[in-house]
Amino acid sequence: MKLRLLTPGPTPVPEEILLELAKPMYYHRSPEFREIFKEVNVGLKTVFATSQPVLTLTSSGTGSMEAALVNAVSPGGKVICLIAGRFGERWRHLCQVFGMNAICITVPWGEAVAPEQLEKALQDHPDASAVCTTLSETSTGVGHDMKAFGDIVARTPAVLIVDGVSGLGAMECRTDAWKLDLVCTGSQKALMMPPGLAFVSVSEKARTAISRNASPATFYFDLKKALKSLETLDTPYTPAHTLIRGLRLALARFTAEGMENVWARQTRHAAATRAGFQALGMTVFPKRPNSALTVMRLPDSIDGTAMLGRLEKEHGIKLANGQEHFKGTIFRIAHMGSIDAFDLLAALAGTERVLRGMGHPVELGSSLTAFQKTLVENAP
Ligand SMILES: *Cc1c(COP(=O)(O)O)cnc(C)c1O
Repeated sequence: MKLRLLTPGPTPVPEEILLELAKPMYYHRSPEFREIFKEVNVGLKTVFATSQPVLTLTSSGTGSMEAALVNAVSPGGKVICLIAGRFGERWRHLCQVFGMNAICITVPWGEAVAPEQLEKALQDHPDASAVCTTLSETSTGVGHDMKAFGDIVARTPAVLIVDGVSGLGAMECRTDAWKLDLVCTGSQKALMMPPGLAFVSVSEKARTAISRNASPATFYFDLKKALKSLETLDTPYTPAHTLIRGLRLALARFTAEGMENVWARQTRHAAATRAGFQALGMTVFPKRPNSALTVMRLPDSIDGTAMLGRLEKEHGIKLANGQEHFKGTIFRIAHMGSIDAFDLLAALAGTERVLRGMGHPVELGSSLTAFQKTLVENAP
């Protein structure tokens, strides 16, 4: 059976990239690596919509979050954490571990933090060194109004640190135009690569904050060193340079399509996916959905865990369950990276068959019609 991986990370890796990853080992302090890394750095700027440096780290996405936080904020510093789900909570946990003073603005799962809440938090805490937030909250499917957040934080001395791990490359994110200081992401979501690389863009304001932080609580993730090495197209320690060789091909895809087109395509796929599942009696879970993934709430009559289990077992289609207290009542499907419209149609078709098999009344083809209509009506 063919496996169709539609989880919000990891996502499928295109065949041309898999073949590139299978090439023999090469040396990392070499003109060959520097040539590849040069091209990768240009491609990363395109995907991040920035003219600022984007650092490549060898870790999963969380490593870039940790790197951004410990370098931009001194131990004991005050950090406003905007929390709308499981990944927002990660900022609070990071602050705890590194002895920072976290001021948490928390909203219920499915809701987004409003710009007014951030504005008030900054008025109450003018001494905050940073604001940490999430572009796409992967546990709930919420997308934050990052443009509004950027405008608000730019008027203060704080830096804005964005967890863009599932959102960057899948939903509109204009790092420079929106004044986002440190945007973090990982390789295994919208960037259609295996896990192992993480990235963080660094604005001028962020570079100032980093240079003022005399003793960041890290050795490996010292961004001063990483910025210095980047000047000579190098990294402080051995990079995952076979992954970087594959990344070059992934970034070339983004550059060829153009970010405006990528964002618009993702928006269409998101709208069509939602219409498809709505035709099966499900409702959109997040109040402010983003276009990297769709999160649907199931009617009480459907056991989500059983449905997802059968989808995988009977049809090879892997979607993600809800997390924590939403396990079994919501589910998550990605449309980021190389996932295309026909992958999504397969997921809908499989869901129809499974629901019928579970005894739920389903008109075969109803979700496919809704998907196709929405896609065609929104065609560019
Ligand atoms: C996946 C994800 C992460 C964690 O990334 P890892 O690569 O597992 O470290 C962080 N934030 C968001 C929003 C994510 O979707």
